[in-house]
Amino acid sequence: MSVFILQDIKKTFVVNKIENVVLNEINISFPDSGLVSIIGKSGSGKSTLLNILMGIEKPTKGKVLFKGKNIAKFNDKQFSKFHLNGVSTVFQHYNLFDDLTALNNVMLPLKMKGVNSKKAKQLAIDEFRKLGIEDLAYRKVKNLSGGEKQRIAILRSIVTSPDAILCDEPTGALDVKNSREIMGILKNLSKEKLVIMVSHNKELVDEFSDYIVQLKDGKVKGNTLPKECEKEDKNKRIKNTYKSDWIGPFLRLNLRKNLGKNLFSILSCSVGFASLFLCVGFLIGSESSHEEALTKNLSIGNATVSKVESVEITDSPLTYQKTIRPELSEVDAELSEFSTIRVEENISYFISSCATCSFNDTTFNNFQMIPLYDFSLKSYGSELLIKGNGGNNNFEEIIVNKEFEDLIGENVLGKTIVLKNSAATNYKTFDEDDPFIKDQLIIDKPMTIIGVIKEFPFLNSPKIYYSYKGGRDFLKSQFMENLSYYLGYSYTYYDYLLDCDPDDTVSSYSSYIFLTDLSESKEFFTKIKNLNNQSLEIISTVADIKETYITFISSFSKTLLVFSGIAFIGINFILGMISLSSFLQNRKNTAIMTCLGSRNSSIYNLHLYENYIVIAVSFLISLFLAYFAQNKLNPYLSSKFSLSNLITIPFETFYGLRYGLIIILSAVVVICSTLFTMVPMLIYRHGFITEELRDE
Ligand code: ADP
Ligand code: MG
Repeated sequence: MSVFILQDIKKTFVVNKIENVVLNEINISFPDSGLVSIIGKSGSGKSTLLNILMGIEKPTKGKVLFKGKNIAKFNDKQFSKFHLNGVSTVFQHYNLFDDLTALNNVMLPLKMKGVNSKKAKQLAIDEFRKLGIEDLAYRKVKNLSGGEKQRIAILRSIVTSPDAILCDEPTGALDVKNSREIMGILKNLSKEKLVIMVSHNKELVDEFSDYIVQLKDGKVKGNTLPKECEKEDKNKRIKNTYKSDWIGPFLRLNLRKNLGKNLFSILSCSVGFASLFLCVGFLIGSESSHEEALTKNLSIGNATVSKVESVEITDSPLTYQKTIRPELSEVDAELSEFSTIRVEENISYFISSCATCSFNDTTFNNFQMIPLYDFSLKSYGSELLIKGNGGNNNFEEIIVNKEFEDLIGENVLGKTIVLKNSAATNYKTFDEDDPFIKDQLIIDKPMTIIGVIKEFPFLNSPKIYYSYKGGRDFLKSQFMENLSYYLGYSYTYYDYLLDCDPDDTVSSYSSYIFLTDLSESKEFFTKIKNLNNQSLEIISTVADIKETYITFISSFSKTLLVFSGIAFIGINFILGMISLSSFLQNRKNTAIMTCLGSRNSSIYNLHLYENYIVIAVSFLISLFLAYFAQNKLNPYLSSKFSLSNLITIPFETFYGLRYGLIIILSAVVVICSTLFTMVPMLIYRHGFITEELRDE
């Protein structure tokens, strides 16, 4: 049986919708050995026929049988085996890898076969010796002459002992002397195996060929082949255990060639991955910052409680809601589970209802005055103090926040401001002659700033903190002149506050709630939302700020996540495109490798591994970058927003998994980059092999 049989082969090329029938009704049975020359005019389809035999061009019609098997049906593995054991090729322009040594070029098909380096080297050197060209073995191919290159190409094609060698114009680029020598080598080889050669050198063909096939007008015109030839296969075949490690030298070459491109990829990937880490760090860090944000505000110690009453309107089905001061006992009952919380009278009407302060003849009014029950700051807030100290519970000293200092515009510690407030009272006597007794409390009081605190700045405003006890004692010491005279006994503003109606303006329609300690703050803020007594309403500015902050942070985090996701896809896309471009640039190499017997997977791996290396290096750099950025950004953010560890990248454990984040992220990165690298290559893999190998 013939090694190669062409059955009824037809090949048409369609260019610009014009059909060009290059081969038609070709039926050839090649012998097992001997030198078969295919001749014909330029453009008669010789190379096309050879490409069809090689399996890199598909016939439009008909079959190529190799040892009885239709080569069109070969899968990737069988196709690779077909080239490693069955047919090898020699081209007019050699198609060697110029950057490798001659020896490495010859060893390549052996290494693809799975032969270890030592054995491959020995087998290759033997072949060099047979031709007497050992001295060429260690030279780079790009430095060899044409004749030398063609000898190396022939060595590469025979080193795996294939059944047939296909040569397309092997002497086309050589001088007469070299041509004859190459023909001699091929002739020698054809004693043991089939050598099919395309040539238009009539002289050489006539001298060296055993058989001649002439192509004309797409058909076989003359054919000196015997009808059927049979011969025993004498070659000792090297066992085929395909391996991919031959791509190593090519990977190194590509890395060197693409150094600049890869360095830029590494740079952008490192920054991209680092921002992903920081993003996750922010998501986790900001989660715990909610609670912290709360405690970073001294007014956490102060809330007000009111009672909301429904009042029916006489002669109407409508009711209206009225806010009044609750009974202290009622509030106490509601908050009985808390041991550190105190409920007190709201004294703000007399002290801060329309307070202004003056400093160096300038008057300021855009600030809030907030009482603290325990002014010492020991139980809470001490870490907020950036200047001064906590002071005593008297009405001569105040603490201000940074925003207040900024309002004043200079260093205020130890300075004195003058607090001014005026609050009028109207006591109803039910006496027709004298229906109202009016009094007015005027505060015009120098106060020393003994401490400055730095609070969480989100939605914060200038604030003065004063001692509640000090303020209350002050009210207890201020007598209402007119009312005391009318009543006939000493009556203080504090007495008035206690005695006034719950819907009197003086009551501020509310009572104070003080947290004297932070230990129960969390429970207290939960309690604010779920009061048993539905008519009570507790208002805390800090709780409101916290709610706003949570909403803000969660929408910010979501946006950040979306953007990082887009950035991540972008990075992968760029990586994929870079490997696609290097894949397309290396098409010729890919074509040669395919003809040598490489599997597609090895060629994809070559580009994939290059990406993996880029990614691995970037990933490592990004870990350091992220760690560095976290350590630099956190102190900055903490000085800006008073929140410590706003970025907390969980390097160590992630959802209970040790090094979980690093593992998960690297897995995602590998999967994504594999996808983004493979898909474009798979799309572009087809139909360039013959184009790249065409001898121009
Ligand atoms: P030669 O006998 O000179 O080796 P070829 O086999 O290279 O001839 O080409 C035979 C004919 O087929 C030529 O006319 C050539 O233009 C055409 N041809 C070869 N390859 C292609 C292709 N990929 N697409 C279109 N036409 C092609
Ligand atoms: Mg040709």
